[in-house]
Amino acid sequence: MYKFRLWSVSNARKLEAVYRNFEPVLIRLHPLFKWLGYGRLEKPVRVVEKVIKGLMFDCQMCGKCALSSTGMSCPMNCPKSIRNGPCGGVRLDGNCEVKPEMRCVWVEAWRGSQQMRDSAAINQVQIPVNHLLKDSSSWLRVVRHEFAAHEKELAQ
Ligand code: SF4
Repeated sequence: MYKFRLWSVSNARKLEAVYRNFEPVLIRLHPLFKWLGYGRLEKPVRVVEKVIKGLMFDCQMCGKCALSSTGMSCPMNCPKSIRNGPCGGVRLDGNCEVKPEMRCVWVEAWRGSQQMRDSAAINQVQIPVNHLLKDSSSWLRVVRHEFAAHEKELAQ
């Protein structure tokens, strides 16, 4: 919902803090997730993620979440799906070229990112969307990825 989306950007710092606390909990649950089976968990986690993030960010379930680098403004709401924006068409009032009634998601991303503790994260270049990941859970992907990185670190 558009109003909630704007609210999320306005509260990017608080949401960043929530995420910073939420992520380690998820990562600690990796052994349990592994025991239960990631394949089996995918569907229920995806449903929960879709409802929560759909409400708060108009999430399109791209499968590779960029919110922590984009000021809590989902780049997939850009009508051109630009992952590294903005394009050259932003209007003088900061609204979108394609949808004049909507704020440019990248103008919003900048607004949100400047409130965040990691305000430099927006400078990271985002990799292109992998459409094979569409409709999969970013949360579970982060857990697997972070846990694998953690294990690699321990092995060194
Ligand atoms: S970046 Fe992807 S996963 Fe994150 S809110 Fe946007 S569509 Fe959803």
